[in-house]
Amino acid sequence: APMPRYHIWTIGCQMNRADSERIARCLEGMGYAPGESAEEADVIVLNSCVVRQGAEDRVVGRLGSLKGLKREGGHPVIALTGCMVDSATDELTRRFPHVDLFFPPQDVAALWRFMVGRGLAAQGAGPVFAADPPRPSVFVPIVHGCNEFCAYCIVPYRRGREQSRPLADIVCQVAGLATSGTREVVLLGQNVNVYGRDLPGRPRLSQLLEELNAIPGLARIRFLTSHPRDTDDDLVAAVARLDKVCEHMSLPVQAGDDQILQAMGRRYTVAYYRDLVGRIRGAIPHVALSTDVIVGFPGEGQEQFARTYDLLRELRLDSVHVACYSPRPQTRAARELADDVPPDEKERRRQAIEGLQEGIAAARNRGLVGERVEVLVEGCKRGKWWGRTRSDRLVFFPGDADRLGHLVEVEVTGAGPWSLQGRVL
Ligand code: SAM
Ligand code: SF4
Repeated sequence: APMPRYHIWTIGCQMNRADSERIARCLEGMGYAPGESAEEADVIVLNSCVVRQGAEDRVVGRLGSLKGLKREGGHPVIALTGCMVDSATDELTRRFPHVDLFFPPQDVAALWRFMVGRGLAAQGAGPVFAADPPRPSVFVPIVHGCNEFCAYCIVPYRRGREQSRPLADIVCQVAGLATSGTREVVLLGQNVNVYGRDLPGRPRLSQLLEELNAIPGLARIRFLTSHPRDTDDDLVAAVARLDKVCEHMSLPVQAGDDQILQAMGRRYTVAYYRDLVGRIRGAIPHVALSTDVIVGFPGEGQEQFARTYDLLRELRLDSVHVACYSPRPQTRAARELADDVPPDEKERRRQAIEGLQEGIAAARNRGLVGERVEVLVEGCKRGKWWGRTRSDRLVFFPGDADRLGHLVEVEVTGAGPWSLQGRVL
């Protein structure tokens, strides 16, 4: 008989992508093979995001389109996970009766229990996870949940409180990955800098980086996301000192106006952020900094927005991810503040920042033409290999040899705002 197939559809952040990988390994442990599409799958898992209304709408649309796939006898199995699912599932069950299972992303065992209960998986003492297939770069969650409660953010309500994984577990996992051919790990946490403060002995992120840096075969270590307030000299020094830790930090600023930052509950001022960027740049040569910005937060008038725009123009960061504010249920901003910037004005501000950053990124990338960069090759797309530099820039280059998972020296021959072109040296 042909192997049963699974299909996982994922949207949202890197944490969701990491969770989907884990779900895939669990389904493979139950004897399932990956399928190309939902149509040919026996089990479909949707991994959802609700950070903004737009993301939630896409999940609901996708859930609706799956309704037509349900056949007599309940096939295929449809499961929903991700940030749309919290402990209370009554409302979801009512809205989506064709979904068989809702499970929170931290509880993959619930998927296994369900499958065993239906006779769709071999029964054992607990879920078995298939071995990781060799992949050049792997996301490794190290802190789950978040204690920060930024006024706009739904994540702490859906992912629960901060929970760090024991240091030895992470080192073990990464050493195993390195043995199987992984060259880069990306350590994940909503506020990854607070890693360990809930563990016995309170290990620090810098200590974890130090231990991972000693793993043979591993070439690169990244970590995200860093809350500016929790980015201290100890961490910056570790990035500067440890050769495998890439010169790249993700440092969301969210707004460039003190009044808005305070209303967001971000715990820092613009002056603090500017100083922090200066200190990081002073300590880590050629460091690349990325940031997130929300436009149209309640109370953001033209003046406040102009301060955000001016700050980004001044700091010339390497990449900026900009989103229009979207009120989310339960959050302090949704409960207490009027969503007073009209949608078209939010969109205008978003495009203004996109335009500004496109110019900055294009100019920065042009400066790399003629330089040599180290690329970790992650895939092949339309006849070209692609990978990333240590500073997280996307590079495409031609070549016939199989270079997947290799570190190659590339000369940059062309540059656009979002990627570089090159040739292998
Ligand atoms: N923990 C990370 C941080 O502190 O930036 C990422 C959290 S969130 C999953 C990713 C980004 O989505 C945030 O940085 C923020 O810019 C954006 N975001 C979160 N809530 C939002 C909201 N209600 N409306 C618009 N953007 C939002
Ligand atoms: Fe959300 Fe703030 Fe936590 Fe990031 S740090 S997940 S923005 S509450």
